[in-house]
Amino acid sequence: MARTPRPPHIHKFGGASLANAAAIRQAVEIVLAHRPAPLVVVVSAMAGVTDALLDGAARAARGDVGHVRATADALHAQHAAAARALVPAGAGRDELLRHVDAAFAELEQVAGGLAALRELTPRTTDYLAARGERLSARIFAAALEAAGCPVAYVDATAVVQTDGTFGNASPDLRRTERSARKALRPILNRGAVPVVPGFLGATPDGQVATLGRGGSDLTATLLARVLGAREVSLWKDVPGLLTADPRVVPDARVVPQVHLREAAELAYYGAKVLHPRALGPVMKRSVAVRIRPFAEPASLGTEISRRRTLGEYPVKALSAIPEQALLTVTGSGMLGVPGIAARTFAAVHHEGISVSLITQASSEHSICFSVPEASAERARRSLEATFRPEIAREEIDGIELQTGLATLVVVGLGMAGTPGIAARVFAALAEARINVIATAQGSSELNLSIVVDGAEAPRAQRAVHAAFQLSKIGGGAVDHPDRSDVVLLGFGQIGRTLAPMIAKVKQDALTLRIVALIDRSGFVFDAAGLSPRRLAALAAAKAKGTTLAKAPAGGRRGATEAVAFIARHALSNPILVDLTADDTTETLKAGLGAGMHVVLANKRPVTASKRSYVELRAAAQTHGRRLLHEATVGAGLPIIDTYQKLVESGDRVSKIEGCPSGTLGYLFGELGRGTPFSTALRGAIAKGYPEPDPREDLSGKDVARKALILGRLIGFAGELTDIAVESLVPDGADQLALAAFLRRLDEYDAAWAERVAAAAARGGVLRYRAIVTARSIRVGLVVVDASSPMASLNGTDNQFIFTTMRYRKNPLVITGPGAGPAVTAGGILNDVLKLAGA
Ligand code: ADP
Ligand code: ASP
Ligand code: MG
Repeated sequence: MARTPRPPHIHKFGGASLANAAAIRQAVEIVLAHRPAPLVVVVSAMAGVTDALLDGAARAARGDVGHVRATADALHAQHAAAARALVPAGAGRDELLRHVDAAFAELEQVAGGLAALRELTPRTTDYLAARGERLSARIFAAALEAAGCPVAYVDATAVVQTDGTFGNASPDLRRTERSARKALRPILNRGAVPVVPGFLGATPDGQVATLGRGGSDLTATLLARVLGAREVSLWKDVPGLLTADPRVVPDARVVPQVHLREAAELAYYGAKVLHPRALGPVMKRSVAVRIRPFAEPASLGTEISRRRTLGEYPVKALSAIPEQALLTVTGSGMLGVPGIAARTFAAVHHEGISVSLITQASSEHSICFSVPEASAERARRSLEATFRPEIAREEIDGIELQTGLATLVVVGLGMAGTPGIAARVFAALAEARINVIATAQGSSELNLSIVVDGAEAPRAQRAVHAAFQLSKIGGGAVDHPDRSDVVLLGFGQIGRTLAPMIAKVKQDALTLRIVALIDRSGFVFDAAGLSPRRLAALAAAKAKGTTLAKAPAGGRRGATEAVAFIARHALSNPILVDLTADDTTETLKAGLGAGMHVVLANKRPVTASKRSYVELRAAAQTHGRRLLHEATVGAGLPIIDTYQKLVESGDRVSKIEGCPSGTLGYLFGELGRGTPFSTALRGAIAKGYPEPDPREDLSGKDVARKALILGRLIGFAGELTDIAVESLVPDGADQLALAAFLRRLDEYDAAWAERVAAAAARGGVLRYRAIVTARSIRVGLVVVDASSPMASLNGTDNQFIFTTMRYRKNPLVITGPGAGPAVTAGGILNDVLKLAGA
């Protein structure tokens, strides 16, 4: 007789772990490392395949056959390439490729039928989607076999029995137990590894149905249950179950262990890491379900089990359910009328809509509950129909619907019986100025659900995460904690100078990576960081005029959308560096809102209207991020830093005076030596000193902006337009197109030569000077005595003279080069390093 078999270990590989041949090979290695102990492999479809299949099916039903053909071709190529790379030529490979060919030939055929019928049923959708898992399982089995491991492909319909609800089937435990044992035991008994497609099951009449998105997690736990397994490893692209979605909360941490009930609550309430019902089958069992990092097979990730640890963390994790709507039934006539609540939920249930949060005021004047936004209208109509008589009698005022919401879910076993947890959550939200629209606490006190405006949900999660110090939970961060990810907004001269400098930073325990470049055309992003070589190639292409949208892997998106897209990824201490000369305030706010620090070389955002300036600062404050802009004044010279150090040490700055323009400094230096104006200005442009349009410098506008930045530091309350500016742009030249202006520079040479000579005749030199106090700012051309410190400025030198309480008689003077890509990039790098914690 057969011995009682040792229970197998279930290994499930998610889509990201099967992205391509290399990933599958690594998954095979993981399996081999666990052999010869008995194990069962469950696989998802290769990364992105389910999405592509579902999208293809929907488009086919709309008649878009061309698109389906392209999808089928791409998927065919993806699978065939993996098969060829993993399985040596021979009969096994040929058979595998026949399956691949057949799957996509049939896909096109079915799609043709859908296009003719213009109708897509859940049954057909499931049938089409199923090939993703079926093919990846066949490829995996063949690859494992090629690596010398005895295997057997077992189709999911022979194992998982369901109730037959297409699109969201529920497994039938009893029947699955029988068929799984029958199908899998013999394979396990002979020491081979069954490879089963996840996500799928059989309907009672033997067709294929899917278990809902992410369903292969459920396949794995279900098999664990029916085979009596003690351990399930879910291999994913995260280091474990995190305290929050890392794409939303950058400092999310791995929770080393969570209770099954906590994890189930998180999965059910929107944490995308687990199928919502995945833990159902093992809820009352002694099974350890581990979420394990595919990238780090030696790590155990997070253990989900019945142990209770981490008692000092009453709250362990958060998630948010997006796209929610709130329905409210109100009316004074409801008071004391029995059965209103029951009828309300019966009406919604009748429509097959699931309710995720309910609150009823104790006065019974209203019942309020949330449903997915997509079914909100349907729910409202059903309620109106149900309560038509009560509405007519004015016992019920009506059904109110509020959309665009999200439910924030705060989970932790320790919430039960620890007083004040809810208060801490609400205090954190209040401090972040987030409005709480509705709230409910389950009777288990395991979770606290809070409805907020959808746009506020990310900020709400970060606020609560910070309030409970979840970034200290001790299971390690998503990323290297000392890594900072830099996003360059603007990839012109300064950006291209800065990029290699950032790439070269080598300091102990500090890594700086550039993860994205954004220009006016679009962006290039790689969450793993852009290598110095790739940056150099992009810089070379950009210098030749190729926009980022057209660069390899480039995307077309506006800057704000690009920032939002980038921010959705797992970044570590993200820093957004603005190197443009554009009006980027909205983009910067998006970055701050998404948890990025901001470094500016761009003066515009801090010299726009006072209101906009105050709002930008407030945004940084609200999100707990910093906004640094040393390079906006005096390039790399420590001007703002000096100001801050003076103030921090108790000094008071009453006046800052100086020559804050490297371009004009250079120009007057050259003019003083007899160089014609046109030659001098062209020289400055060639060296990269002026703003993109040099009239910005000549008009005094650039100096006025710098003066305003200093002014706002010391209490000047006015606007750019309140600054008296003397323009050096010749009359009429401000109307010209830039190219025309540059062509006609020679016309201005004579007038400039005269001005210089007149100054020299008075024993002086020309300087462009700013005088800044809290009350007024003046900017203009002056003749300074040849013996004064300002006269001695050389090249692009800037000079700043601080008059303070301490430095009154003998002011504090800072002088040095104040323009040019290298020094400006140096100043920016200093700010970046400050934020990176160096
Ligand atoms: P699989 O490869 O098994 O399909 P998923 O993609 O379904 O894995 O789940 C992992 C993803 O879930 C991660 O990429 C992560 O962005 C997201 N996620 C959301 N919330 C969490 C959380 N609390 N912990 C870990 N990952 C989370
Ligand atoms: N491939 C399916 C999905 O993308 C199931 C899974 O990956 O678990 O939803
Ligand atoms: Mg998944």
